[in-house]
Amino acid sequence: MISIPYLLSDTVDSLPGIGAGRAKKLEKLGIVTTRDLLLWYPRSYEDRRECCSIRQAPQERSVCVKAMVAAPPRVSRIRKGLELVKVNVVDDADAMELTFFNQSYLRTALVPGEVYLFFGTVERKGSRFFMTNPVFEPERNQRFTRCIMPIYPLTAGISNNLLAGAVRRVLEDCAGQMEDPLPASVLKRWQLAQTVYAVETVHFPPSWEELGVARRRLIFEELFFLFLGLSMLKSSGEHTDGVKCEPFDWHIYADTLPFTLTKAQQRSVEECFHDLCSGRAMNRLIQGDVGSGKTVVGAACAWLMAKNGFQSALMAPTELLAEQHYRTLSPLLAKSGQRVGLLTGSLRAKEKREIYAKLEAGEIDLIVGTHALLSEGVSFRALGLVITDEQHRFGVGQRSALAAKGDEQRRPHVLVMSATPIPRTLALIIYGDLDVSIMDERPPGRQEIQTVLIGEDKRQRLYGFVRKQVQQGHQVYIVCPAVEESEGDGVSGAMDLKAVTAYAGQLQSSVFPDLKVGFVHGKQKSREKEAVMSAFAAGALDVLVATTVVEVGVDVPNATLMVIENAERFGLSQLHQLRGRVGRGSEQSYCVLISNHRSPETRQRLKALCATNDGFVLAEEDLRLRGPGDLFGSRQHGLPPLRMADLAADTRVLYEARDAAQEILQADPGLDLPEHQRLRQRVLSLFEQHRDTFN
Ligand code: ADP
Ligand code: MG
Repeated sequence: MISIPYLLSDTVDSLPGIGAGRAKKLEKLGIVTTRDLLLWYPRSYEDRRECCSIRQAPQERSVCVKAMVAAPPRVSRIRKGLELVKVNVVDDADAMELTFFNQSYLRTALVPGEVYLFFGTVERKGSRFFMTNPVFEPERNQRFTRCIMPIYPLTAGISNNLLAGAVRRVLEDCAGQMEDPLPASVLKRWQLAQTVYAVETVHFPPSWEELGVARRRLIFEELFFLFLGLSMLKSSGEHTDGVKCEPFDWHIYADTLPFTLTKAQQRSVEECFHDLCSGRAMNRLIQGDVGSGKTVVGAACAWLMAKNGFQSALMAPTELLAEQHYRTLSPLLAKSGQRVGLLTGSLRAKEKREIYAKLEAGEIDLIVGTHALLSEGVSFRALGLVITDEQHRFGVGQRSALAAKGDEQRRPHVLVMSATPIPRTLALIIYGDLDVSIMDERPPGRQEIQTVLIGEDKRQRLYGFVRKQVQQGHQVYIVCPAVEESEGDGVSGAMDLKAVTAYAGQLQSSVFPDLKVGFVHGKQKSREKEAVMSAFAAGALDVLVATTVVEVGVDVPNATLMVIENAERFGLSQLHQLRGRVGRGSEQSYCVLISNHRSPETRQRLKALCATNDGFVLAEEDLRLRGPGDLFGSRQHGLPPLRMADLAADTRVLYEARDAAQEILQADPGLDLPEHQRLRQRVLSLFEQHRDTFN
């Protein structure tokens, strides 16, 4: 029978051993066509190249042993659920006994007289040799031994051998059909391998060196297209006309403030003012660690807009934050005679209508609010600037929905403030469509927060320390991961988690009867939450037991101690955010992490937090420990996935790919030249969600 070669566009169900049922399972992994299969890269490899005789096999690692099955396999049933298959095999000089657990089908799969390759660890007891559960295959059809074996990410019902076999088959038939998406000039300039070689090698590498060459090529390609797309997105925004401001010296504004701006704040203000007066729409991210003072930079921008007769809007992710911004921004602008308003969902209808009217009449210069700002009733007399705070909570869509309330011809400027420090490499990618101002300095007079990691055994001493802080007139946060005692997450031990409500009650009644203990969590009504937070901010509570609702932006300078229960439950960035709730005044502040967890990975994470206060350093560490997965995952950014590149490890290729993309775009910013049409098509299909922006 002649078999027709597979095409790169064929669906995988026609492949030998796959069929409709397994195709369905593969679809869950996103594998539909043979091309998808080739792009399903191994997650790791197993070196099965070494081949030894039974006698010479080392005992400390797995190797291949070539041997003949000497007699029919023997099956014995030890007890229910445990069956052993024993097989005797021989090579030129020695015999060896193989044992397989619960694989009784081997009775027929291993044929006496046939020669096989067995991959496993040889054990020696006296003069006898043994191997347990080896991987094996007939020598005459050798595919998965004596090679560097790819190990694929799998799903139930799909074995690694099945996947590897299918990939091998597709490579044999289709490798020649693959076109190289990279122009020959780029391959040459950056010394990159051809695509066919790279794909073949990444699945079945003859050596580690060759794997390295193949990987570099594939990583380069991924990042190259990412940067091409991002640069095009960014430059498409740059041509948008924005509200043009007349310049005013920012010193005039700074002189109205009760403090001197830090160097980083000055630099950021200058960068923003430059954008605001340029005539093009600003698209800027201010990235600064918690407490670096981003709010006042936003205020300065709003000030400049108002001086020019334009309105600004600041959108915060929660009512709590919106109100707090409102409270801090009002005095920051009042000295200049500018009017700040607040719009949140919980205002009464009448209050809302009043705000709407004032916005339309231009009687509010800066409106601070939540999503309520996006409501239909909101329209501005002259919206010139949109500020969003804690941007990881907002999608790009919401940012532009607010901006759309401005003039169509002259788009409002956009300023994004983010308190999540992100490693430079990642910022390049995630915020590729924004210009970035970095605030890497904290206002003077702040002390480093002292952070310690303790176990349960120190709990009583900790309570003593809490009391001491309160006696000195300070306030304390205690953060717990869970909300109600009954809120199990299916994991045993969830009941041990310090549950906010119960824990607060217990602290109040039996540990701190003389102190004022309050609690706040995400399941309370927002009014309730506000009331507790305001009480804490006003100093009416000594100890606040809370969930992570206090994570973002809340500012109580008198709080000097942050206690985090079950600290192992939080990610590094989140812990750092929580810690940032203290150390906001001039007093020495502390962060105590409580955890009894012993896993080395957890200890490393928590120790990293104790070692530094620098959010950027921690972000790098977090990226190294956990990979960029959740940063990427938590945002609906519509960027193509990275299958191969590891942003923490592959920084060198990252910069090379960026340079390569820039070189191409410098000569041809819109990829309009005939020789760039393939590149352009590829970028468009990778950035499907942003297609409108490109056209
Ligand atoms: P974040 O960057 O975390 O949003 P904020 O803007 O809330 O920080 O500022 C934190 C605190 O620091 C606020 O109380 C603010 O008034 C104060 N602050 C900001 N800039 C300065 C400065 N240059 N000198 C002194 N205090 C400042
Ligand atoms: Mg803030």
